[in-house]
Amino acid sequence: MDAPLTLTDVPCPDDVGTAEPPVAACPVGGCPADRTVLARTVLRVERARWDAPPGSAVTLTPRPVPTRPVGDLRADSTALRCAPGTRDVGVRAGYVDGRRVAVRLCAVPHLPSSGAESTASSRYHVPGARGRAVVNARISGAVRALVEAARREGLRLSANSSFRTMRHQRDLCREDPGCRRGDHTLVAPPGHSQHQLGVAVDFSGTRVTGGRSCDRRAEDPASRVWRFLRRHAARFGFRQYAAESWHWDALSAPGRCGDPVTPRRPRAASTPPAR
Ligand SMILES: [Zn+2]
Repeated sequence: MDAPLTLTDVPCPDDVGTAEPPVAACPVGGCPADRTVLARTVLRVERARWDAPPGSAVTLTPRPVPTRPVGDLRADSTALRCAPGTRDVGVRAGYVDGRRVAVRLCAVPHLPSSGAESTASSRYHVPGARGRAVVNARISGAVRALVEAARREGLRLSANSSFRTMRHQRDLCREDPGCRRGDHTLVAPPGHSQHQLGVAVDFSGTRVTGGRSCDRRAEDPASRVWRFLRRHAARFGFRQYAAESWHWDALSAPGRCGDPVTPRRPRAASTPPAR
């Protein structure tokens, strides 16, 4: 690394988040995918050399990739970067406990979602989602790690809901008789769904309902997806909402079940509503 390196100001592909430090550049000729990591490393070395006193050694410390939720999930996450391997889709209004909080959202490439916010033709679409689940930057590394762990077992997870807009949650509540009369077991009141903070994912492939306490947790031992989540989700900071076998989130709240349980006999399948 002694010889000066020739760099240009060619922007890297969109896998460089908007909150990256400035001056993301690639070697002459652009950034072929297999050279992007090398180009970033060269930049970090150059920046470190610039900052270090003359003649001193330059040490690069690997940036840890989060595999669990980061920081206070209820707090503004706009200053965070999306985890490596996820894609920044910008800042949106999130909600927690009825309070508005700005959240940076990240699309998870290996987690396709049929959710409205991920679907371009939907009125609730989040631009940039491109058919992928969209989550709060604070859990982007954890979700990615969970998805990759599943892939290593040959299981490709998919979602049918992730981040949800206020407009969407209001419409869901308006359309749900239980929510309208104040029963929020399956549809949370607007401003109170963990989907609105971007810290919940509804996974496809499991559709069992249960009670609101963990001793009456929804169990779906016939589902490979549920069995995987039951065994591994807690390691990445996710817990199941007792009433829904498909809803897993990262925020501490009543009725969240974290420890693996011994599956009981299957219960009747149902159509997943939208907690
Ligand atoms: Zn849900």
